[in-house]
Amino acid sequence: MNNIKIIRLAGKNSYDFGYAIGKETAREIKALLEKTEYIHDCSKTEANEAYVEFKEMAQKLYPTYFEELQGMAMGAGVDFDLLLKLNIPELDMFITDQDKVGYDDCTTLVRAARGRVQVLHNEDGGSDDGIYLFEGALPSGLQVVCVAYYGYLLGFAANLTARGIFYNCNSLKCKFQRLGIPKRFVTRDALESMSYADFLKRITVKGRAQAQNYIFVEKGKAYDIETSSRGYYAREVKGNFAHANNFLFRDMLKYEGRSHRGVGTFLRSSFARSEVKKVADFSDMKKILSSHVNRPSCVCAHGRDVGDINLTLGVIYFDSEIPDSFLLGYGPTCEAEMKKYGIVP
Ligand SMILES: [Zn+2]
Repeated sequence: MNNIKIIRLAGKNSYDFGYAIGKETAREIKALLEKTEYIHDCSKTEANEAYVEFKEMAQKLYPTYFEELQGMAMGAGVDFDLLLKLNIPELDMFITDQDKVGYDDCTTLVRAARGRVQVLHNEDGGSDDGIYLFEGALPSGLQVVCVAYYGYLLGFAANLTARGIFYNCNSLKCKFQRLGIPKRFVTRDALESMSYADFLKRITVKGRAQAQNYIFVEKGKAYDIETSSRGYYAREVKGNFAHANNFLFRDMLKYEGRSHRGVGTFLRSSFARSEVKKVADFSDMKKILSSHVNRPSCVCAHGRDVGDINLTLGVIYFDSEIPDSFLLGYGPTCEAEMKKYGIVP
């Protein structure tokens, strides 16, 4: 396994920040745009009309993140609208058969006991996705270290900020997805949070299009938040807990947009939630997230080459007793070597 690419930046305005990332990741962005089918199929009237609305909403509410993407497109030498469509995965609902079983993303384990929080998160994507590590300052000046996806805004995989905040995301599919604020912009905004209360306000912004799950850690406390396009449920995590890519909480089950219960996240989630009960330390957690039980719906996934639904791109470990860094293993968890990355002062 090669080492993960690391991008370090500081002191840029929004456009130049995006430009620098785009320039350093041009090859990966071009390859991804070529392979992502739905972004080339937005000529269908309904999808095109939806794109115009999504675009307007994102630009109006988050002009600086919009500028980051404009810079990224220019830096990578790609068409801006294609890159923006990549950052609006909600568009896929207007194009692709919604009943298909596609990749369905990540699994997170949490252990919260006696003022200490440990989080182990498998970052799973599709077989064409790739991750890199961002270390440095955002245009706002905030120092962060983020596991980021090529071609996307920062903020939706796993993130640590100089404000003592760690969070990661798990995708959820909402039955009532709608035209609204694209979720990649919401998660980018979450990265700027001042506190848990501020984070909650940002991720529940009115008018959001899609659902999302978050595991958030601050001051030795962990929180699990499920959002849909309309509602949300937030609670402090106490004890051992696991979340994947389906709604878990009673009041949120009505929003579940995934229907194939015998495959994918439903199997991963029930396996992880059952196994996490007996977790006592990091090695127990890593063993669970390295598992190939229920293949091809396994927690540690090796992509389409072996017939798995997902591809585990990396594994992230955060321990609130070491609050200024996390460990990252690049590649599927069963073979990943964990290395430390932290906030650079
Ligand atoms: Zn594996």
